[in-house]
Amino acid sequence: MSCSGKGSIESILTQCCSFMCFLFFLCQCGCQLDASWNGQNCECVVVMFTVLCNKCPSSLSLQDKQYVGFATLPNQVHRKSVKKGFDFTLMVAGESGLGKSTLVNSLFLTDLYKDRKLLNAEERINQTVEITKHTVDIEEKGVKLKLTIVDTPGFGDAVNNNECWKPITDYIDQQFEQYFRDESGLNRKNILDNRVHCCLYFIPPFGHGLRPVDVEFMKALHEKVNIIPLVAKADCLTPNEIKKLKDRVRDEIERFGIKVYQFPECDSDEDEEFKQMDKELKECTPFAVIGSNTVVEARGQRVRGRLYPWGIVEVENQSHCDFVKLRNMLIRSHMHDLKDVTCDVHYENYRAHCIQEMTRCVKLAQDNRIDSPIPILPLPTPDAETERLIKMKDEEVRIDNYSLIYSSVAPSYRCFDSESLKKA
Ligand code: GDP
Repeated sequence: MSCSGKGSIESILTQCCSFMCFLFFLCQCGCQLDASWNGQNCECVVVMFTVLCNKCPSSLSLQDKQYVGFATLPNQVHRKSVKKGFDFTLMVAGESGLGKSTLVNSLFLTDLYKDRKLLNAEERINQTVEITKHTVDIEEKGVKLKLTIVDTPGFGDAVNNNECWKPITDYIDQQFEQYFRDESGLNRKNILDNRVHCCLYFIPPFGHGLRPVDVEFMKALHEKVNIIPLVAKADCLTPNEIKKLKDRVRDEIERFGIKVYQFPECDSDEDEEFKQMDKELKECTPFAVIGSNTVVEARGQRVRGRLYPWGIVEVENQSHCDFVKLRNMLIRSHMHDLKDVTCDVHYENYRAHCIQEMTRCVKLAQDNRIDSPIPILPLPTPDAETERLIKMKDEEVRIDNYSLIYSSVAPSYRCFDSESLKKA
């Protein structure tokens, strides 16, 4: 904007200010300009006067003059992400009948399993592990979430459960592979992210800790997905039994070297309430949960719970189970971190492994070409647009490689798979 333009705006604003001063003076004196002039109009004038005085360049403070505006960046990011919407993919695993579908419906207050076909005992014996996907778009206060639930019916149901986790690990790898392909493709704008961000693993309440199949499942998946172990149907146990089972599961997880999802460390400048919440959350894993899709009446209130001859178990009562803690963690406090860990740790490991494999293949092909008797044919000349896209791609790969090298040397509290990075 030119100086003269700025000067004229300043003078217009100054004149407006003077006019508003005059109006303000009139209404302070109780003057009535016309029949509709009342106290409300008077207030309006006062407000406008204040606003104009504040906007008037001559009254701008030094602080205002030095305001560039990048403080609005968080608002811009917020607006953009709300507009775009969010997505989250949750996997549930554990043998049939442990309350997986009931818990998911209780968590998101939707009926995700409307068309589920329940198998009889005979069908269940012959069933192999399947992967099913249910997607639902939910909206809360204008924020849209595309929630995908990946279920694993048939897992752990067979008499011989040898390698029954294989279809599940294959599924997770396929999603990584798809993402890797899309990301390396020419059109990266509309990539659909189907990577699994979290896996809720249901441990039966009837045993005395982890069964071999639980240990094997978690060990097969812990490098690929964020595992959150849960004690299912906690209403089948007394508080004492729950405590014992939790202690035992925690010990076994450590003893077998299983890496379940680690809650990030709290920043030292967080408030005390948040620190306390974080401490409680860490102490109560594995979460002991109860699910129910029915509403019952307890203490004069309608609550989600399970009605028994001896009383009511309330799903959302924190002295009955850890459902609320799990929901708060999963949805309110750690959903974004789960996505970040998936992207920065699990997917990065997969990607590093892929790049390493590709480099090995290229090297092998080059080595072979030296002795190869096959003549190398000239490639057709690409057109200008293809050439531009290839150049763009080359640049992206170069930047990606730099960031990969950087991430391997940068100290981080969440280390990458050291083995694969060393090789890369
Ligand atoms: P899934 O096969 O793992 O998906 O299990 P479902 O959600 O279909 O539940 C199987 C049965 O267990 C149903 O009759 C549910 O009502 C019941 N159920 C679900 N959650 C609980 C729970 O927390 N406690 C008890 N006691 N029963 C539950």
